[in-house]
Amino acid sequence: MSGSFDVVVAGGGIHGAGVAQAAAAAGHSVLLLEQSALAAGSSSRSSKLIHGGLRYLESGQLRLVRESLHERALLLRLAPDLVHLQKFYIPLYEHSRRKSWQLRIGLSLYALLAGLDSTAHFGTVPRSDWASLDGLDLHGLRQVFWYHDAQTDDTLLTAAVMRSAQSLGAELALPARCTGAALTTDGVQVRYLQGGAERECAARVLVNAAGPWAETLARSITPPISVPKLELVQGTHLLLDGPPQRGVYYLESPRDGRAIFVMPFRGQLMVGTTEVRFHGDPATVAPGPHEVHYLLGVLRHYFPRFRDPAASELRGEFAGLRVLPAGGGHAFHRSRETMLVPDRSARPRVLSIYGGKLTTWRAVAARVQAQIAPSLPTRSAKARTDQLELRPA
Ligand SMILES: Cc1cc2nc3c(=O)[nH]c(=O)nc-3n(C[C@H](O)[C@H](O)[C@H](O)COP(=O)(O)OP(=O)(O)OC[C@H]3O[C@@H](n4cnc5c(N)ncnc54)[C@H](O)[C@@H]3O)c2cc1C
Repeated sequence: MSGSFDVVVAGGGIHGAGVAQAAAAAGHSVLLLEQSALAAGSSSRSSKLIHGGLRYLESGQLRLVRESLHERALLLRLAPDLVHLQKFYIPLYEHSRRKSWQLRIGLSLYALLAGLDSTAHFGTVPRSDWASLDGLDLHGLRQVFWYHDAQTDDTLLTAAVMRSAQSLGAELALPARCTGAALTTDGVQVRYLQGGAERECAARVLVNAAGPWAETLARSITPPISVPKLELVQGTHLLLDGPPQRGVYYLESPRDGRAIFVMPFRGQLMVGTTEVRFHGDPATVAPGPHEVHYLLGVLRHYFPRFRDPAASELRGEFAGLRVLPAGGGHAFHRSRETMLVPDRSARPRVLSIYGGKLTTWRAVAARVQAQIAPSLPTRSAKARTDQLELRPA
C-alpha cells in the first residue's frame, strides 16, 4: 500500500480511528497504520465511561467537563447500541471526605454543564431502598446520591468508528508499524513495516495517534520536532463474578480518597482504577500485586460479601496507560485535556495527539481536522461526524 495520501494516521486507537473518520468525512484520502490490532492500546483498557467526569470539577477542568458532557449527549444519540446511560451511586458515610453539601453543589454544576437536559436529574436513594444496593455496606451510611452518566464497550466503539471511516473511503493497514518519517517542504515521507517489508508513502500530514507510544514515534521523525514533557501513568482494573445490578458505584478509596468505580461490564463486575507512574515499554504494562491488593481492599471495604476469598476470586485483570503532562504532585490532579502538538504553527506536516479521554474522541478529531486543514488540498466534504451513526459489527 504505497503511494500518496492526504493524511496518514499512525495508531488505531479511538483517536486514530476518529481522526481517520473526520479526515475521510472531509473528503480526504486517508491511510491508517496500526501496529497490532484496533484498540490494542489504552482504548481497550479504559474504565469504559463516556462521562463528563464529575471528579474533574474538583480540579476546575470546567471546559473539559462541558465538552465531555456535550459529546456524551451526542454519542448517546449517534451510537445507541454502543453507548448507554447508566445510573451512578455515590454513598456517603460518616467518615467520607466529601460532604453532602459539596456533592449537591458538584452535581448541580454537572447538571448545568450538561445543559439541564433529561439526563441531568440527580437525587438521593430513600433509606428504605438501601438494602437493594448490591450488598453495599450500610454500616455508618448517611446518604446515597444518584445521577446519570454513560458506559460503553471501548473496543467495540473504536472498531465502529474505524468502520465508519472505512465506509467513507479511509484505508486501514493492519498490522503495519510506522517506523519513522522525514519532513519535506510541504509534507512528510512516512516509513512503515508491513508483512516483514519496509514500505514508504507520502502524505501531506502525518497524525501521530500512537497513544503511549506517541513520544517514541515523535522522536523518530527527522529533522527532530519538539516533544512536550510527558509521563505515563498506569491504571489497573479487575474483573470478578457478580456484576452490580443497580448500576455503577462511585466510591472514595478509604486509604487516599481517590475515586474508584465498581461497575457492570460484559456480565462481570469491574473495579478500577489505580494511578501508578510507569517507565518502560508500553507493550509490557500489566497489573502489579500492590494494585490488585489496593482495588480488592476498596471493593471489600464497601461490599462485605467480597471479604470471603472464594467470592473475590479474580476472573480477569488488565492495565492501561494514560499519557499526562509531566509535573509534580499526584496524577489525579493533572490535566486530562488532550494535547495537540504540531511540528510548526502554520501548515503542519506532523500533528501529535498526547493524552485525552475516550469520551472526547470526536471533538478532538474535529480539532485535529481544523488544525491540519491548511496543509491539505481542497476537497468536497462527504459527511459531518456529528451526524454519522455508529453501529456495532
Ligand atoms: C486506566 C484508564 C482508564 C481510562 N478510563 C477512561 C474512561 O472511563 N473514560 C474516558 O473518557 N477515558 C478514559 N481513559 C482515557 C482513554 O482510554 C484514552 O485517552 C484513549 O483510549 C487514548 O486513545 P488513543 O487512541 O490516543 O491511544 P491508544 O488507544 O493507546 O491507541 C494507540 C494505538 O497506536 C498503536 N501504535 C503505537 N505505535 C504505533 C506505530 N509506531 N505504528 C502503528 N501503530 C502504532 C497502538 O498499537 C495502539 O493501538 C482511560 C485511560 C486509562 C489508561
